[in-house]
Amino acid sequence: MKSIEYYNKVFSLLEEHHRWFQQSIPLIASENVPSPAVREAIASDFGNRYAEGFPRERVYAGCRYIDEVELLCMEMARSLFGAEYADVRPVSGVNANIAVYTAFTQPNDIMMALSIASGGHISFGKKQFSGTAGSVKNLEIEYFPFDYEVMNIDVEATKTKILERVKANQPLPKLVMFGGSVLPFPHPVKELTEFFRQYGSTICYDAAHVAGLIAGGQLQDPIKEGVDVMTLSTHKTLFGPQGGAILSKAEHQEALKKAVFPATVSNHHLHHVAGKAIAFAEMLEFGREYAKQVVANSQALAQELCNKGFNVLGKKKGFTKSHVLIVDVSEIAYGSEIERLLENSNIILNRNLLPYDIKFGRHFDTTGGIRMGVQECTRLGMKTGEMKQIAEFIERLVLKKENPDKIRREVTEFRKGFQKIHYAFETATEAYEYVKIRS
Ligand SMILES: *Cc1c(COP(=O)(O)O)cnc(C)c1O
Repeated sequence: MKSIEYYNKVFSLLEEHHRWFQQSIPLIASENVPSPAVREAIASDFGNRYAEGFPRERVYAGCRYIDEVELLCMEMARSLFGAEYADVRPVSGVNANIAVYTAFTQPNDIMMALSIASGGHISFGKKQFSGTAGSVKNLEIEYFPFDYEVMNIDVEATKTKILERVKANQPLPKLVMFGGSVLPFPHPVKELTEFFRQYGSTICYDAAHVAGLIAGGQLQDPIKEGVDVMTLSTHKTLFGPQGGAILSKAEHQEALKKAVFPATVSNHHLHHVAGKAIAFAEMLEFGREYAKQVVANSQALAQELCNKGFNVLGKKKGFTKSHVLIVDVSEIAYGSEIERLLENSNIILNRNLLPYDIKFGRHFDTTGGIRMGVQECTRLGMKTGEMKQIAEFIERLVLKKENPDKIRREVTEFRKGFQKIHYAFETATEAYEYVKIRS
């Protein structure tokens, strides 16, 4: 290809992507769509600058306005999460976790976290699986016992596991990591924080998925419940551009500050700091209303799917109290096959391991589950009535085996009514409109 052909090809692919997303139902639990205001902030010249370090203590000149924006961003983050310290520099959730590992652990220390099949994240993972905690920091991982009947950490079994280690004189967790990538119910932070503290553990809550719900007063409030530190991604249930952040008690400020810069971030994507600041302002204004609707929507979708015969996990507890739900499709097909079938009809979600998949010899390509999150649909203005409609599309495709092309046309039609961003100050530009800056 000639250079100009490459150039044009990339732009045409970008435009096609935008068109596709204008016609699709976005159900990936880790994604969201930013407002036109956030998109404007991330297109600014901040993205071409270097800062390094802390506002007003920079290693570079030219940060006069950058410093002010970052300070405002930190102030709003503290207020949203009720935290004494906020660091908005981590460029992703994994980056924020690495900074926490750096601040609070030494190589070979033990971290307690959920396994991936039980909802943990690769950044909690063991070295033998190339997980971040094991690979980067050489941490040993002990898994939380998990009760999949109620889709949560088993409090009593966790205490027993630790007490057995105490009895056997084995090392205890230096870091306890609550949170995960499948977090339908609040984690037992209150029930376990004091217990772990007596053994000298630092307590972290990874709110990558649920930060927007926490900020909106739903699910739980880990900082109030006593954790030392909380990490998050800014783009899953929050409204931000892709990025990370860390919240903590004041006593950990110095350790975290250094663990971020110079230890694990050099320049920190300043356009995304501006984008986070705008997104936090939106969350302060609209977060409560949004988070409430997210939970109402996920519960409605779960109930509808269950009514239609799908095996939605966590039934005993009402399926979900967050944005996410997990469906066991193992009796129908592999999760990956369902994922492809739905994608072909413009319903975008992903396969997911079930807590008991490994036991049945299933792995990431042959999962027994699919995962959905309703936060992006909620941002597009959908309510519980639309969740009914989505459940029906899924039923007709997966259970009734209707023609995927027919469903795709109906999905496209359905989406025409949901092109604007809600819970935002500015809504003139459509959610997935391709904004052309080139002349
Ligand atoms: C998504 C996720 C992360 C990582 O976030 P990125 O911003 O993608 O780096 C960390 N922890 C959990 C539990 C997650 O689900």
